[in-house]
Amino acid sequence: MTRPEILVTSPMHAAALGKMAETFTVHRLWEQPDPAAFLQSHGARIRGVATSTLYGRIDDALFARLPALEIVASFGVGYDNVDVAAAAARGIVVTNTPGVLDAEVADFAIGLLLATIRRLPQADRFLRAGQWPDGAFALSPTLRGRTVGILGLGGIGKQIARRLEGFDVAIAYHGRTKQAAVRYPWYASPLELAQACDTLIAIVPGGAATRHIVNAEVLAALGANGVLVNVARGSVVDEDALIAALQDRTILAAGLDVYEDEPHVPPALLDLPNAVVMPHIASASEATRSAMARLVADNLIAWFAEGRPLTAVPETPVAK
Ligand code: NDP
Repeated sequence: MTRPEILVTSPMHAAALGKMAETFTVHRLWEQPDPAAFLQSHGARIRGVATSTLYGRIDDALFARLPALEIVASFGVGYDNVDVAAAAARGIVVTNTPGVLDAEVADFAIGLLLATIRRLPQADRFLRAGQWPDGAFALSPTLRGRTVGILGLGGIGKQIARRLEGFDVAIAYHGRTKQAAVRYPWYASPLELAQACDTLIAIVPGGAATRHIVNAEVLAALGANGVLVNVARGSVVDEDALIAALQDRTILAAGLDVYEDEPHVPPALLDLPNAVVMPHIASASEATRSAMARLVADNLIAWFAEGRPLTAVPETPVAK
């Protein structure tokens, strides 16, 4: 039997590439000297795509060049990089990698929260710069007594909340729907959540529905002691409004893992002493990235062996 041909759009963890190569003929688009010419000559034979946010948007224009495409396996739980409506219209299944990264990302969110409030990176820079002998590092704000609002109490948001319980802080949340089994207070909008808390952790999906839901008004509602942690997607936060709120101290500080135009981060943000900036690494431990990579490959393997991927996204359901 001929091996299905898989197009990998962008550099991917070796565990995915190795596992895919055992079953499929794998083409590495990013290594092609002329990707457009490659799609022209090979596109008709491609039955699966493996992709990640490193590649731009997987959209209908690409689907049109891959007429035999059956499945897109995306690396990551967020899949705002894939036009799922266009995929669904063409009968193409899209998969993501939920679950295997929840604990890692929740750990990171807590780390970033503490680093931001207690100014850990700033203290590290202070010591390395030889400033300690000249006097103690300035006293920091505190996590004590805070109310933490979780914007998006899904798989990862719940793990963040569970960890926060150990820190004895008040917890609240916003999602589009109130969850019957959840006992934290629910607020019907991001603004109402921000009005009820002083610390906001964003962990919703990206895309049009959540674009700039953290805007100037929401930031102002957090108040002068306010802290924003964004481990969701850059598009969720109005970055210009955030920079202004940090510059004029409308809020106290922000801890950011994601940006509107990655990997480009506005210089104005880098100049701010009250921003802790991370290069989109919330899931980026070796163990977790390996698990995500294996799930990308396993989705493709399950699809071509049984016609049933392991973790299809809800927008492209597969008949059971
Ligand atoms: P889930 O689908 O499990 O949870 C998403 C939550 O967001 C749900 O509780 C949902 O509640 C809420 N939500 C969805 N849409 C909206 C909306 N329009 N307005 C308000 N709330 C909304 O996803 P995960 O917890 O697994 O992941 C969440 C996101 O985190 C990912 O999509 C990804 O973008 C980001 N992420 C970032 C990482 C990083 O490296 N920084 C790593 C991993 C994930 P409801 O349906 O009630 O609205």
